[in-house]
Amino acid sequence: MKKPIVTVVSCPEYDVKMIQDQIEMIISTTTFPDVMNKSVLLKPNMLSGSDPAKAVTTHPAFIKAVIRSLKKRGASRIAVGDSPGVASADAAGKKSGIKDAVESEGAQWAVFNDVVSVPCPNGKKQKQFYLASISQEVDLIISLPKMKTHEMMYYTGAVKNLFGLIPGLKKSRFHLNFPEKEDFASMIVDLLETVKPAYSLMDAIVSMEGPGPGSGTPRQTGLILGSDNAAALDWTAAEIMGYNGIDIPILKEIVNRGEWLHSETVIEYPRLHPDELKINDFKRVHVLKDTGFFKKKTPPALYNAVKNLYVPRPFFEASPCIVCRRCVDICPAKALSVVKKNPRKKIKIDYKLCIRCYCCHEVCPVEAIRIGRI
Ligand code: SF4
Ligand code: SF4
Repeated sequence: MKKPIVTVVSCPEYDVKMIQDQIEMIISTTTFPDVMNKSVLLKPNMLSGSDPAKAVTTHPAFIKAVIRSLKKRGASRIAVGDSPGVASADAAGKKSGIKDAVESEGAQWAVFNDVVSVPCPNGKKQKQFYLASISQEVDLIISLPKMKTHEMMYYTGAVKNLFGLIPGLKKSRFHLNFPEKEDFASMIVDLLETVKPAYSLMDAIVSMEGPGPGSGTPRQTGLILGSDNAAALDWTAAEIMGYNGIDIPILKEIVNRGEWLHSETVIEYPRLHPDELKINDFKRVHVLKDTGFFKKKTPPALYNAVKNLYVPRPFFEASPCIVCRRCVDICPAKALSVVKKNPRKKIKIDYKLCIRCYCCHEVCPVEAIRIGRI
């Protein structure tokens, strides 16, 4: 395995020129793919149609700067796309400002309507994925994640961002098939090995802390990270957020497989080092360390009861809820329904069916869902 290099640079604001200059700095210190006369798919995080100031999505100014850098290097075609969980890509693209940014830079706005089966012969959990067909048409894929917390997987970055290549509601089926974090993480690593992103550039200028990835709080972090090794980049970002990289299930699985990363000690940092950047008061999602132990030691029927008590659950607040049904539509376990409760409708949850995937929490546009134990 080639020694991974992760370049971390400062960038205090969403100024396109400033971001582009910093990206050039990153590119000069890492192995950046040759894009001359190549087609490139940029995959930002466009979880939902949110105001860029909320830090839910990769910022449009960041995407503009990346497009300019690729144009300067002679890319023949630059497409940009993502597939939000429930909203249409066009609607999310317009509200987040990403569609305008892409079109104003003369790049292609890619909507993931067509899917294609892509084999994953060595996958541990999946032997194939149905991915947006454009991902197989282009010469290379660049992941453009946002640095964020994640209620289910604790952290989301360059690797988890690839999950958006699976169009729309097809994603939620994976939560049903792999309700345990470790299994879900293993499926995501199968996806990483299938997609093999050529490079990752992370928008960590304003990141998300607290109950991410959809309802957390923006936090000024003032950084951009770049690497041709998505796993090493994620390890670095997670450490900056104050996590132990090995506590992140996706990173633990990657280290266990040993293909992308076998230890944090092998990562080289030509610019800033994560040890100097650790944000100790970053509001992280609490890491549950012993669900694996419970699963091994507890009979299945009892395990579900214990899990229901131990693992945080979603709570639905009636007053902010606008009964948009997004949570109902995305829930893979069919645990949610709309009930008429005078004087208005509200969301009802069946906790016996709920698998604690928190997809509902990700897509709620008004923060009407809280994750907790009581
Ligand atoms: S809880 Fe949120 S996502 Fe669900 S219906 Fe209400 S507003 Fe929509
Ligand atoms: S209610 Fe929410 S957390 Fe529970 S299974 Fe449905 S989407 Fe997942």
